[in-house]
Amino acid sequence: MGLLDRGVEIKSPEQIDAMRRAGLVVGRTLELLRGSVRAGISTGELNAIAEENILGSGAVSSFKGYHGFPAVICTSVNDEVVHGIPGDRVLADGDVISIDCGAIVDGWHGDAAITVAVGEVPAEVTELMRVTEESMWRGIAAAHLGGRVTDISHAIESYVRREGRYGILEDYTGHGIGSEMHMAPNVPNFGKRGKGPKLVEGMALAVEPMLTLGTKDTDVLEDDWTVVTLDGSWAAHYEHTFTLTPQGAWVLTALDGGREQLERLGVPYGGRD
Ligand code: MG
Ligand code: MG
Repeated sequence: MGLLDRGVEIKSPEQIDAMRRAGLVVGRTLELLRGSVRAGISTGELNAIAEENILGSGAVSSFKGYHGFPAVICTSVNDEVVHGIPGDRVLADGDVISIDCGAIVDGWHGDAAITVAVGEVPAEVTELMRVTEESMWRGIAAAHLGGRVTDISHAIESYVRREGRYGILEDYTGHGIGSEMHMAPNVPNFGKRGKGPKLVEGMALAVEPMLTLGTKDTDVLEDDWTVVTLDGSWAAHYEHTFTLTPQGAWVLTALDGGREQLERLGVPYGGRD
């Protein structure tokens, strides 16, 4: 592995393959959790399901013990945006929960997040979820070898602004990922294109738009982790880890490598599986 432009870690194809294995553990864990979300289940129970699946896959959690974080997933409900701690909270019909998960295989990380509705939620919340997820895909689709990191940021922001009035968090961003979960560079969810480190083969980035139905401004609860919107508006968060190969993009935490969504957006699929 080498360190290139501005401290960005460059992975060999073999190391990216290990990140794919970690990404699949994360992707499968999130699909398991998506199927487990229901009124009456606690966030702590979701964490237990995730932990059993991560360890049973021969992986290790990226989150547990990270700066003292006590769980293998973050569970952020309604006006909580990110970094919520699983516990006794029981989900109710009409809630929306963002679940963030990370796993390590052979020292290499994968990081992804989904937002799931619990039963029926208001149409504006369903639309918030759709816009957030689609902005993530638009961001990934905007990345190509020789481009710059903020090409992703710009694609996310311009899509979101086109779709409506949403708060885009500015204090939290996507990030480089590889031998650690959070590495250079930051991947903001807003900004001009053409800035930041060059996108090169062997780079891996976690793209993670965090949108709200109101303000972009947030606060952190007394648990020192949970990020909530300042105005109480509800939020959504989606994330995938991806890389660029000479053939195209490869979404390491998507079960199909991102093939379906990339092809829909007219981007060549660059996966090795
Ligand atoms: Mg994450
Ligand atoms: Mg992340």
